[in-house]
Amino acid sequence: MAFTLPNLNYEYNALEPHIDARTMEIHHSKHHAAYTNNLNAAIQGTEWESKGIEEILKNISKLSPAVRNNGGGFYNHGLFWEIIAPNAGANPSGNLSEAIDKKFGSIDNFKKDFTTAATTRFGSGWAWLIVQGGELAICSTPNQDNPLMDIAEVKGTPILGLDVWEHAYYLNYQNRRPDYITAWWNVVNWNEVAKKFSAAK
Ligand code: MN
Repeated sequence: MAFTLPNLNYEYNALEPHIDARTMEIHHSKHHAAYTNNLNAAIQGTEWESKGIEEILKNISKLSPAVRNNGGGFYNHGLFWEIIAPNAGANPSGNLSEAIDKKFGSIDNFKKDFTTAATTRFGSGWAWLIVQGGELAICSTPNQDNPLMDIAEVKGTPILGLDVWEHAYYLNYQNRRPDYITAWWNVVNWNEVAKKFSAAK
């Protein structure tokens, strides 16, 4: 199989009380596993089987809806598990902190704008912090699309992503997406976001 479900660096219950163990277990072992399996099935026997996921996403307009949905789902969730962690949530430092202050005025302003992007994304989708021509920007995408895709309205390299599909929060937060987002800030792994920022610049 071309792609495999990545393991988490922490236990399913490690992000409680902000993200509950049952949600984490279903999200990773069912949803992310399904995107991975369906992506493999969709590219089996094609030239894309030997390509990396980023190359697939950058050429997504040439590929089927099954690859778009499941390739996006495979990539997006891999990033999502990396940018959250237990005992995280302190504010960013260093170059990333400076870049956020420069672009958004302050970390609080950034969180406000990002939260607006996440709460106003209608239906299922993602909010993103991206690097675009060396600069930070906030955007959101529907379904499992992402800013690496050639069909994305706003393109760039994602360094932080928030899943606002109901499957990401409904068991614990029901319809209260804003409460889920408020809690999620407590588990953002800024060290990892800073690494992705350096790599993307
Ligand atoms: Mn999800």
